[in-house]
Amino acid sequence: MASHPELGEQEFEASRKMNDLLAQAHFETEYPYSDIPTAFCGKKGKGTPHVALLAEYDALPEIGHGCGHCLHGSMTLLAGLALSPLMSSLSTGTLFVIGTPAEETNGAKVTLSEKGIFDSMDLAMMIHCNDNVSYVPYRSLAMDAIEFTFTGQTAHAAGAPWEGRNALNGVQLFFHSIDMLRQHVKPGVRMHGIVSKGGEAPNIVPDLASAKFYFRAPDRKYLDIVLQKVFKCAQGVALATETEVEWKNVEFSFHEMRPNKAAEDMMEGVFAECGISTTPAPGAGGSSDMGNVSQHCPALQPLLSITDMQIPHHTREFAQAVTTPRAKEMLKIGAQILGRAALRCFTDPLFCEAIKKEFLSY
Ligand SMILES: [Zn+2]
Repeated sequence: MASHPELGEQEFEASRKMNDLLAQAHFETEYPYSDIPTAFCGKKGKGTPHVALLAEYDALPEIGHGCGHCLHGSMTLLAGLALSPLMSSLSTGTLFVIGTPAEETNGAKVTLSEKGIFDSMDLAMMIHCNDNVSYVPYRSLAMDAIEFTFTGQTAHAAGAPWEGRNALNGVQLFFHSIDMLRQHVKPGVRMHGIVSKGGEAPNIVPDLASAKFYFRAPDRKYLDIVLQKVFKCAQGVALATETEVEWKNVEFSFHEMRPNKAAEDMMEGVFAECGISTTPAPGAGGSSDMGNVSQHCPALQPLLSITDMQIPHHTREFAQAVTTPRAKEMLKIGAQILGRAALRCFTDPLFCEAIKKEFLSY
């Protein structure tokens, strides 16, 4: 996968090969899965509890596997293959290995969550590889991607500017209003945008201009409150500039990662058993479709260090780091961690009860 990176929704080779390996290990497989061409699902065992191991395998344009999905997708697969023979000896319990494409774009975990795939799971989990620190309580921000389009009236920008209604003024004032709003939202909110269309030529008053924004907040409830303020900004700006404004979501909406202390404590223990020391978690920075999964069942996405160097995700350097002998060693350890955590679910009904209780009380 590392040497043959495939973009989101195009991961045909990776998904086919992973699904084939599950089929060879006597998983009951479905591919494509849930009407998503590059998703798959391998299922083994019978009855409850249900444990889902999630695999990612999409790459980034230009830099390939700069987020390491090739590596941690393989951890999931290896954990599934290792658990396979044990599943037949369990009196009850079903293991699902689910291939979830396009995390970097239209995250399939959003679609699968909405279809109710995770509603019956006792625990869904995956590991995300990380540079020089490991930690368990991963947090992410709720996020909406919204494009605002302002429309006005063209005019000669020098000859008769008074005839024009300037859509670019709408966009510029909108950025300014968002910057003013920034002072009056709670800590943890992130609002960042680009001008996606700004006019055709300096001598034409633009009649069409647009801006694409990501809005993020620590939880969906507060994000929805912030968005109401944002929409008022857009409407006010349109009034002030005599333009019209429309907006629409341009990517799937992500929810925040719902914490599950009981599941995280178990996972901290598994990291320790496997000799991996953890650091305090840095808190939420970005957003992930794993957040959507965590709204439907107890979910975990710990971060596992694969190098001693500090290397940011989404760089050519990280794409390099996931191919080293050290990274391959961490692939095995990551699979062991997922395998042990799954077994804890299958063998400890009290643990399953505790994480479910916490999930329902959130
Ligand atoms: Zn990633």
